[in-house]
Amino acid sequence: MQITRRTLLSGAAAGLAASALRPRAAWAANSFTIGGMEVTTLSDGYLTQPADFMFAPMPQDALGEFLASRGIDRTAPLTPPCNLTLVRHDSRLVLFDAGSGTGFMDSVGELPDALAALGVDPSEITHVVFTHCHADHLWGVLDDFDEPVFSNAEHLMGRVEFDYWADPATVETISQDRVPMAAGAKRRLDLIGDQFTLFDDAAEILPGITARATYGHSPGHMSFALSDAGDTAMVVGDAVLNDHVAFAHPDWQTGADADLEAAAAMRASLLDQLATDRIPMIGFHLPDGGVGHVDRFEGAYRFVPA
Ligand SMILES: [Zn+2]
Repeated sequence: MQITRRTLLSGAAAGLAASALRPRAAWAANSFTIGGMEVTTLSDGYLTQPADFMFAPMPQDALGEFLASRGIDRTAPLTPPCNLTLVRHDSRLVLFDAGSGTGFMDSVGELPDALAALGVDPSEITHVVFTHCHADHLWGVLDDFDEPVFSNAEHLMGRVEFDYWADPATVETISQDRVPMAAGAKRRLDLIGDQFTLFDDAAEILPGITARATYGHSPGHMSFALSDAGDTAMVVGDAVLNDHVAFAHPDWQTGADADLEAAAAMRASLLDQLATDRIPMIGFHLPDGGVGHVDRFEGAYRFVPA
């Protein structure tokens, strides 16, 4: 029998060495329907990041006032949740992003437990659709033995994003602090490249699922419109990174973005559209499972969880 991370987890669930496991973050599920699509968000855990990773490029005086008004400590580490989206539609079981897997941070990698809690085996996933190649979205495609976790799934990714991270020049040219992430992305794309189907902006990649280029957070970041029977929701990935400054000050440049200017412009236009058209959104790092609406508020926006 081939031992995979999953079989090890199953062993742990059966009581073998359970006491040796680290405490696992609680997982959350949030479910709704878009026509005939059953949409569920799953928690992969949460990231732990220095505050400056997000806040450094922002206007510091205004930021300080804003954060104080929200009771947010400017210096405390940020702990954004990680929400993956699972869509069951006809015979398809589509997962948006793959989570962090093991080896990135201790506070992530909960996806296998979240799927198990829903009674879903990773081998049942028919399609894995990627917003982008950052570690918390991509690294979960391989198990500890470098085997594909979603062994029967077609993997779909925007062509611009794939080409950027698969390019050997990226590791050489990206900022020093992002070299491990770039190397980790390239290694995974190389190992499972044959399973990838690439697509372009505006492609209907699966029935009712349409790609929308939201470049900026990463060079080829994609969002996805889910549409069926006249209903629509938008999976926005990391185009909107948090429920505070991203909504109240979408124009403020954010340190987590690759192209700060392009990402800010994209965020502003996306929020405008979601608010105007009353389209529900799913944000990968938004609270309460990431599902909610965008409301216009005090000259900008606010996130209203579902
Ligand atoms: Zn992310």
